[in-house]
Amino acid sequence: MHETPRHIDSSRKPDLRMEYQPFEVTSLRRPDEGWHYVDPAGHAHQWEWPNGKRVYQPGVTASLPTLEWVRTGTGAYPDGEEYEIGEHRCRQCGAVVQPAYTADRNRVFIPGLVSYTADGVPVSREEAVRLAKLHYGQDMG
Ligand SMILES: [Zn+2]
Repeated sequence: MHETPRHIDSSRKPDLRMEYQPFEVTSLRRPDEGWHYVDPAGHAHQWEWPNGKRVYQPGVTASLPTLEWVRTGTGAYPDGEEYEIGEHRCRQCGAVVQPAYTADRNRVFIPGLVSYTADGVPVSREEAVRLAKLHYGQDMG
């Protein structure tokens, strides 16, 4: 269903713009990429990111492939809601390991919502794509 906004004159090329609204992901407790620990049995542990780099990536979930989470009990908040109590253990020898967390020192942003305008008028993504193809013969990134 196409609905061309009244303000836009379809006969000439509109000034199409695409803007990313920054989305703040600053964290006070996130995986510490500098953490590296060797347990008593000699097994190394560290946070891993999906692409294999040991670099903190905002918005990407880090994992602890060498550790397993073992539930040791149940706690309860004052309002009665329960939460899990447990610890991380080495998958090979069972040693208890405490993964390190850190806090961002600077504010961190990732590209969030995308908004489109044609001659300064907000348009939907579909409309922006249609106008781009119509007037510029190409897709918008
Ligand atoms: Zn171990």
